[in-house]
Order: sequence, then C-alpha cells, then structure tokens
Amino acid sequence: MVEPHSADPQELLRQQTTLARFGELALRSDDLDAILTEACRLAGEALGTDLAKVVELQPDGRTLKVRAGVGWGPGVVGTATIMAEDDTSEGYALKTGEPMISPNIATETRFRYAPFLIEAGAKAVANVIIIGAKDRPPFGILQVDSLKPREFTQGDAIFLRGYANLIAAAVARLRAIEEVRAEEARQRALLETQVAERTEALGRSNAQLDAFAYTISHDLRAPLRAMEGFARILLDDFAEPLGEKGERYAARIVTAAERMERLINDLLAYSRLQRHKAEPRIVDLGRTARRIAIETRAELGDAVEIALEPSMPLVLAEPGVRGQVITNLVANAAKFRHRGAIAHIRLHTEVRRDRVRLWVEDDGIGIAPEHQSRIFDVFERLHSQDAYPGTGIGLAIVKIGVECMAGTFGVESGLNEGSRFWIELPAAGNNGAWTEQAPS
Ligand code: ADP
Repeated sequence: MVEPHSADPQELLRQQTTLARFGELALRSDDLDAILTEACRLAGEALGTDLAKVVELQPDGRTLKVRAGVGWGPGVVGTATIMAEDDTSEGYALKTGEPMISPNIATETRFRYAPFLIEAGAKAVANVIIIGAKDRPPFGILQVDSLKPREFTQGDAIFLRGYANLIAAAVARLRAIEEVRAEEARQRALLETQVAERTEALGRSNAQLDAFAYTISHDLRAPLRAMEGFARILLDDFAEPLGEKGERYAARIVTAAERMERLINDLLAYSRLQRHKAEPRIVDLGRTARRIAIETRAELGDAVEIALEPSMPLVLAEPGVRGQVITNLVANAAKFRHRGAIAHIRLHTEVRRDRVRLWVEDDGIGIAPEHQSRIFDVFERLHSQDAYPGTGIGLAIVKIGVECMAGTFGVESGLNEGSRFWIELPAAGNNGAWTEQAPS
C-alpha cells in the first residue's frame, strides 16, 4: 500500500519558498528553456521524485514533445513524444484541465503510458496542465515521475499547479515579446522594401528627366542655329532695306541666339554630368591649374592676373570633370571682378589629412553671406545679364562634378571682399605629399 505524502509544515514552508524563488526567475529570465528546466528541477526536488519534465503541445494539437526535463537519459529531452489521446493521462489532463495522478503505473487501468517513460523506470506520475494565454491552446504539461509507486496528495497537486501557472505566465510574457519583435521585424522589412521601391522609381524618373532634358537641348540647337544664321544673313546682305531699326532688331536676335546657345551647352554639360559615373584616378592638380590659367590669360589678356602655387598635390579625380569644375571657378573669379579693374586670382592648395583642398581666390565683387548657399543651385544668379552675363549653371556643375568624385565644396566671401571658393578631393595616397614640380 502506498502512503500519501504528508503535509509537514516545515516541508510546506520550504516548498513555498522555492516556488517564490522560481517565480522571480520566471518573471525575469528571457530564456524559456532555462525556466522550464529549473521548474522541473525544483518541482522534482520538492516532491522527492527522481524525474520531472515539461511536455510541449505541438501545433497539431495532439503531439506532446519533451521540451525540458531532469533525470532523463539520452534521447528523451528534445526528442521523445507522447500522443495526447483520451487513454493517456496527458490527453486527459489537457482535455479536463485537471491534475491527473497515477500513483502506480503497474496497476493503472485508465491510461496507457509512453514506452520511454516505462523504460526510464517511472512507477508513478503526476500531471498538471500549463495553460495557454487567452484564446490560445495550452502550452503543455508539467509532469513529475517517481521511480517508486507513490500517492501524490492534493497539496502536491496544488503545489505543482503553482509551478505550472508560473510557467504559463513566463510563456505568455516571452511569446508577447517574440510577437512584438516579429512585428517590428516585419515592419522594418516592409519599410526597407518600400524605400528600395521608391528609390528605384525616383532613379527611373530622374533618368527619364535627364534623357528628356538632353534630347530637348539637342533638338533646340537646330532651329536656334537657323534663327541665328538667317539673322546674320539679314545683317550682312539686307542691311539697306532693313534700315537702322531693323538692323538693331536683327542684331538682338543674334545676341539672344548666342546666349541661348550658351545656355543649351551648359544645360547639356550639366545633364551629362548628372548621368555620369566618375572613375577617379590619380591626377595632378597643378597641371590642370596651369592649363586653365594659360587659357584664361589667352582669352582675357591684361584683365586678369593669375598666381599659381609652384607645385600641387596629386588627387583622386576624373580629369575631365576636375577640369570643368576648376575652369568654372576660375571663369567666375575673372568675370565677377570690379568694373574696370583687373582680377587678381590665386590658386593654391592645402592638405587636410587625407584630402586636398584647392582654393580659387579673387578680389572681385564678393558675395553676401545670405546668398552663398543658393548660388550652387541651377539658375541661381545674383546679377542681371547686363551687369554680368551668365547662365546660372556654372556653380551647379561645380557642385555635382565635385560630388560625383566624392569631394566637397564651399565658399568664403562677403560683399566687396572678394571670394574664396574651395573644392576638396581625396588625396592620392601618401597624404598628397607626392607632388610634381611645375615647369618654371
Ligand atoms: P553664372 O556665372 O553663369 O551666373 P554660376 O552658377 O557660375 O552662374 O554662378 C552663380 C552666381 O554666383 C553668379 O551669377 C554670381 O552671382 C555668383 N558668383 C559665382 N562666382 C562668383 C565670384 N567669384 N564672385 C562673385 N560672385 C560669384
């Protein structure tokens, strides 16, 4: 005859203390397997059984898999399964939600037990259900297995239920965290996909816009040339019938056509650069600066004086783009000089860690601080065509040209204080210290 387990007050106090400690673990830990294993260890220890386990109900609603356990040999925890049928104590516990106790498996007539349990030598079993969160199926069952037949008291069952409920609370908490994380991750994919799609669409429409601007600019050229050509014919061959007024009008057509031609050329250069993928290589800033200085002097003669640093560092840039950028800066430095004055222009460099800054400085009319950021945008001009002709595209070309070479740009200036434009490009190794001597 199996004796019921006595409810010794000291024993009860010990059981309550371990249950409270387990409660802390169940509420704090994020590791469900650690929580389940500790529950098995404490419950088995408190009830004096050799074996304990948690079996988890699988999504099919019938299979229970041993998720955690203590005292079991190899091949049980994580592997062994029990089918939750009506003639198993597990199935019954799941169905009724009530603790199920078999004091002696050998004489048990109501239920059959899983072979791995018999093989492990279990003689008595107590099962309590681990309930699921609201509207969810049960998580599984907490089981203690004794190697001797034994009577589990009602107190034992209540005690086991305490563990099972704490496990249920931990499972609900961890699943809620998991769901929040999964939802966050889902939102983040979603967001990344949307960003990628929109970037692609933007890229496509930008490319279309570029192609459009390019074609239009090209197509505008032919009628423009015709206008200019016929206006010149009028001036050359029909000056007399035209009269003074007619001649003036024809001359204005020629001037307007020339300006439009410049605008188209600048727009084409800008649009080409926008679609351009720079292929930087090691280039000599000094050589470019010298060539541009020679060209500017040839064009403007005594109106400019250009001072160049004798040698300049090598940079990583694309020769064509770099040339265009520096040409635009020097052309502006020459153009925006004081009326009737000579433009004094100075080009020099400064090595700043792994970058080289090229300064293009002039002593011209300067730029008020409030206008300095917008002049790098397309068509932003601060002067009338009569005062200083231009298209308003030169600095926009500087901006995208420098950016496509992984560089930066800027200006320091004040009204009537001259301007100091700069571009910064990656130095070509050795901190740009490797320089080529300029010809004397
Ligand atoms: P553009 O020279 O054809 O007018 P840019 O884009 O090159 O167009 O320059 C935009 C505006 O920035 C100019 O119209 C001028 O007002 C101002 N700017 C550019 N460079 C200088 C400079 N060196 N000194 C004074 N103003 C300048």
